[in-house]
Amino acid sequence: MAIGQVLNHIKASLPEGVTLVAVSKTHPMEAIEEAYAAGQRIFGESRPQELKAKAEALPRDIEWHMIGHLQTNKVRMLMPYVSLIHSVDSERLVREIEKEAARVDRVVDILLEVHVAREESKTGWSGEELTDWLGSDSWRELRHVRVRGVMGIATNTEDEMVVKGDFEALKGWFDRLKPLFGERFDILSMGMSDDYPIAVACGSTMVRVGSKIFGARDYSK
Ligand SMILES: *Cc1c(COP(=O)(O)O)cnc(C)c1O
Repeated sequence: MAIGQVLNHIKASLPEGVTLVAVSKTHPMEAIEEAYAAGQRIFGESRPQELKAKAEALPRDIEWHMIGHLQTNKVRMLMPYVSLIHSVDSERLVREIEKEAARVDRVVDILLEVHVAREESKTGWSGEELTDWLGSDSWRELRHVRVRGVMGIATNTEDEMVVKGDFEALKGWFDRLKPLFGERFDILSMGMSDDYPIAVACGSTMVRVGSKIFGARDYSK
């Protein structure tokens, strides 16, 4: 199926209020242009250099989301381009974003990536780290970072009950944190190509879908 057709199919299947991020990492500009022509305006990338190159070459009204693990030394590069950083997984990273956003006098929207998957390798705050940070109150001093919600990745398994449990855990974090951050804390980013219908059933407000739209990724390129 053509990119535009798949996009329309996915969008039609999402309830109102659920935003689709088209994950274009590793895919060429032409694929993004095709999705753009079909009306898609939000794209997700996981490497800062690639996000920058694409943002500079493609239409200005695209919203670029950073979804992959972010190193502090790459934050500055993103500042002119990024509209939402999903993958904020440490206090150190929050501080760096605050510093760089202040430097260019902007406010950057972020999500807190929470580790819920059973795999060790998946990134994100542990519940304990997050609880400690929130207890420290240092987040109340953020002026150039706006915490908009929670992001997470479910365990990579065929077992739907495990996946559902992970999404319910993320929804639990979202509900616990919302009273702290207020009205604009309104994004629960969860669900990818293989599991987004389960995520949506568990309360996701933003799904990140890549291979289902653009096909398999080739990391050798
Ligand atoms: C690559 C990636 C996706 C998209 O994965 P697909 O399985 O291709 O839909 C979503 N979220 C994150 C964090 C990713 O790194």
